[in-house]
Amino acid sequence: MKSPRPEAVQPTGATPAKPYGEVIRLLLRCGLLTRQQVEYALRVSSKLKSSKPLLGIIKELGYVNDEQIHAAIRRNRTPFRIGDLLVELGLLTEEDLRIALKLQKAGPEKLKLGEVLVNNNFIDERKFIDTLSLQLGFVHVEPEFTELDEKLIRKGPVTSYYSHVFLPIRKQDDAILVAFADPLDGVCQRAAQNLFRQDIAVGIASRKSILATIERLFPDFHPGERVLRKSESVVEIVNSLLVEAIEAGNVSDIHIEPLSDRIRVRFRTDGVLVPFREYPIHLAPSLTSRIKVLCKADIAEKRRHQDGRILFVHGNREMDLRVSFFVTVFGEKIVLRLLNRQNELLGIEDIGMQPRILKKFREEGLDRPSGVILVTGPTGSGKTTTVYSCINYLNNIETSIITAEDPVEYVIEGIAQCSIDPKINLTFEETLRSVVRQDPDVIVIGEIRDSFSAEIAVQAAMTGHKVLTTFHTEDSIGGLLRLLNMDIDAFLISSTVVCIIAQRLLRRVCPKCVMPYELAPRDYRRIGLPPGALAEGIFKKGRGCPHCRYTGYKGRVAVFEVLVLNEDVRNGLIQRLTSHQIRKISIDSTGMLTLFEDGLYKAAQGITTVDEVIRSLPKFQKPRTLEQIQRLVGV
Ligand SMILES: [Zn+2]
Repeated sequence: MKSPRPEAVQPTGATPAKPYGEVIRLLLRCGLLTRQQVEYALRVSSKLKSSKPLLGIIKELGYVNDEQIHAAIRRNRTPFRIGDLLVELGLLTEEDLRIALKLQKAGPEKLKLGEVLVNNNFIDERKFIDTLSLQLGFVHVEPEFTELDEKLIRKGPVTSYYSHVFLPIRKQDDAILVAFADPLDGVCQRAAQNLFRQDIAVGIASRKSILATIERLFPDFHPGERVLRKSESVVEIVNSLLVEAIEAGNVSDIHIEPLSDRIRVRFRTDGVLVPFREYPIHLAPSLTSRIKVLCKADIAEKRRHQDGRILFVHGNREMDLRVSFFVTVFGEKIVLRLLNRQNELLGIEDIGMQPRILKKFREEGLDRPSGVILVTGPTGSGKTTTVYSCINYLNNIETSIITAEDPVEYVIEGIAQCSIDPKINLTFEETLRSVVRQDPDVIVIGEIRDSFSAEIAVQAAMTGHKVLTTFHTEDSIGGLLRLLNMDIDAFLISSTVVCIIAQRLLRRVCPKCVMPYELAPRDYRRIGLPPGALAEGIFKKGRGCPHCRYTGYKGRVAVFEVLVLNEDVRNGLIQRLTSHQIRKISIDSTGMLTLFEDGLYKAAQGITTVDEVIRSLPKFQKPRTLEQIQRLVGV
């Protein structure tokens, strides 16, 4: 169905809106499609649960292919309306077009529909340009990737190129091919015409590509506020890498690696490596030396792995960086880890646990007078943040809290924290032995890493202490079974472990480029639910923007699986049931939401994406439907 257009007046007595659009009509006219084929496609379309453009169905049925469609559009030069064309090609939903037209009407400045679509992330600029070149017949040239006639370019003043956003590409027959960011703007075209006094063949290119090429060809041109960086010294490069990583706030590591032909710099941002910048390979030796000077490593040594530390002062902050040099075939790879990033201490209600699950965790876990509470997950899953928020919750004047950590990551007032330091023989074992003699109410053991620390945790809980600790396991049931495998008696485990939390961090959708996302049949297949089972969800995706360095993600959110042990689970443990059986009992009888389900729930709220859930979370069985999940989390 075509949406009514604001400027289109329906003539009275007009036939009702046609069930298909201009492109299909054109294909019918050209004889590339028959009426029977279109009718069959319409029948298929009516049977589909999700809405799919009719043209897409026709393509899938193999009646026509993209090439034929594009050729037909180009040959005919039918004046399509860009919005309708995008809808018909399946690049835009009718709903999005309706919203975009509204935005265009409401906007203070008269923007073109294309700009509205791109600015609001309805469509990717490149896709939009492709379509525009198809629709209007403009040649699509990206100056970044095209051989340019530089002599020709030097003829014009760069200010004109910059202000009208165009660039001559090359001579073509009797005309000059010029790439415009907006090929429909008469002012820009006239500017180009006046400049070359020759016929202009109008091409189209992305604004970004034109501006980047101007920057490259005219390095001394400084338009207005924009500062174009000229060659930097190695000192400046290193400083700017550190400053940018620190200021980003979500970077944990800087990777500087020599490849065969260049130096590649990547930042671990929100847990994922993201390309940051590249430098010419000839800078590698001086760059490496500079960092070695900063961290007091041996500059002369280039064939052995080395470590170092940098205390970097930026603004009024001191940043501690641990540096590692690793010798590879192309030279030394350098990784800098940012140590004391300013992580804030979160309240237990702010760590991202669903309200009903948090209530249960508090009442049946943290508030119990004694017992072991285990937080599990791989490195970098946010376990420490959770443990600290639990400590913070338990911290009051009537409670004695004592910790053995490796190392202490946040200092909390009012509790006795000890950093393990094997270098001075302050070992984990020795510290734990002393801890229990300090008359604590709550003992925090940084991590259970062997049967000795497991034994201490369980014994302390047996004698009436509350024990908080972490563990490296994939999920909550895995935590229980690992304890069993550490030769701790099943009965002891079942009578001391109160609660196990498994957790992960998923990347958040970038708020600056967020756009709606509709689940495709493929997504449902990957999730393991029938199409439509998550229909009420509001799914989102980031299209990618400078704010998120074109990843579509910014920041992270924790997902949890909270198992509060009940009689059924305890019995299952004593009977030494399999992990599969214990998992089933936990899900059926304790109201536990699995990691995957909590992730799915957060994706359905548009906080993270389905891709992120599938990429990062273990899936042991089919998740429940959104409706069932909502009932469990109490909304
Ligand atoms: Zn973004």
